[in-house]
Amino acid sequence: MSGFERTEVAVIGAGVVGVSCALWLRRLGHEVLLLERDAIAAGASYGNAGTLADYGCTPIARPEIWSNLPRLLFSSDSPFVVNWARLPRLLPWLMRFLGQCNASRFRANAEVLANLLERTYDDYAPLLDDAPAAAALIRRRGCLYAYGQADNLRAARGDIELRERLGIVQQVLDANEVAALEPAMAGHSVGGILFPGSSHLEDPQAFIEALATPLLHERRLRHAEVVGLQRRPGGLQLRCADGRELLAEHVVLAGGAWSAGLARQVGDHIPLDTERGYHIEFDLQRPLLTRPTCPVESAFYMTPLRGRLRAAGTVELGSLHDPANAQRLRYIEERVRHVLGLEDEVARTWLGFRPSLPDSLPVLGPSPREPRLIYAFGHQHLGLTLGGVTGRLVADCLSGRQPAWLAACSASRF
Ligand SMILES: Cc1cc2nc3c(=O)[nH]c(=O)nc-3n(C[C@H](O)[C@H](O)[C@H](O)COP(=O)(O)OP(=O)(O)OC[C@H]3O[C@@H](n4cnc5c(N)ncnc54)[C@H](O)[C@@H]3O)c2cc1C
Repeated sequence: MSGFERTEVAVIGAGVVGVSCALWLRRLGHEVLLLERDAIAAGASYGNAGTLADYGCTPIARPEIWSNLPRLLFSSDSPFVVNWARLPRLLPWLMRFLGQCNASRFRANAEVLANLLERTYDDYAPLLDDAPAAAALIRRRGCLYAYGQADNLRAARGDIELRERLGIVQQVLDANEVAALEPAMAGHSVGGILFPGSSHLEDPQAFIEALATPLLHERRLRHAEVVGLQRRPGGLQLRCADGRELLAEHVVLAGGAWSAGLARQVGDHIPLDTERGYHIEFDLQRPLLTRPTCPVESAFYMTPLRGRLRAAGTVELGSLHDPANAQRLRYIEERVRHVLGLEDEVARTWLGFRPSLPDSLPVLGPSPREPRLIYAFGHQHLGLTLGGVTGRLVADCLSGRQPAWLAACSASRF
């Protein structure tokens, strides 16, 4: 093994999660190499809605899914669709997901998410100190949920109470207050919820690239696709697609929706799948909105970015290999045009792959079979928000100091 390149920690994947893990480990004096087959923020981290949604503790797997199931699955007017051709492969994930859609699992998962979200800003802060260009892209104007139907706002009472109990700051607004905050929403909302302490990024990809600057300066990023992961006495052996090999004392697996195959190589069978999501962008001189605004019934955010408006969201269960679904893009486009009265052309579209576990929690912590391998994937709708937190927790795991509640995110829960 003496011919291998060696490092103390290899981090696989340079999305927001892998970059944040590498940065936290570097800060604490570990020797780190970040391995990425494509480019920084090329995966789900590229095209998300850009919200640092520290209020997002309500899991996707929720009890109401049962009563809404027919509409969610069979209506073309639904923000949640299943690619039926993929059903046989999706069924095991879907069954586990439905198993989480009850009141007690919902509450328990929400509590874990709230624990993770609590330090969203605190755990980014040290990384931002080293990357002022990333800090400059944060806009602190809050995030807004705008409800189109009074019934839905009434039905949100349970979520509002849950967030209150979990210490999340929110303000319930009437239609006039929503319109006062975002005049473009006048006439399109019966009320809403403002999360005043939250922020968004003017450009999520530029933010992650800027965050990664210290890693680039120190030449800690390698272009490499990891295809093999094997246990050796001196560490974990990584085999790359181009034949290179690396021996690492510890490995952090942060490969987003593509992580399950490498975990399987050490014997961990993790039900990771993808919730496909889309965005469309309009190039606009006038921003139209001043903060991320979610027309709740449509399940996407409209986020003002630098020189453009991005509408990003919806959920499509399918596969990592299917092409983009034009119907999904039309769904978002029609709704944005309806709400904002936009006539401009769509400038860009994008399909991205959220890494998602059936219980809406990430897999975060050491592999049950191989303690030198730390998992950091499956952040579903919250990966951008949870980058800093995940990096800090991975560093805690490496030093054996992780909090007891993190056991809920262990791969051994499956
Ligand atoms: C439409 C949409 C809107 C969203 N909005 C928000 C939002 O507003 N706020 C929020 O917090 N989250 C949001 N998310 C979720 C968020 O984008 C993801 O949770 C997050 O980007 C996941 O980051 P990641 O680093 O785990 O994965 P990714 O960003 O997908 O990165 C994984 C990286 O690993 C690399 N990789 C994989 N396998 C290998 C390998 N074998 N070898 C080398 N490299 C490898 C990939 O190339 C990729 O670059 C949204 C997602 C979508 C799709």
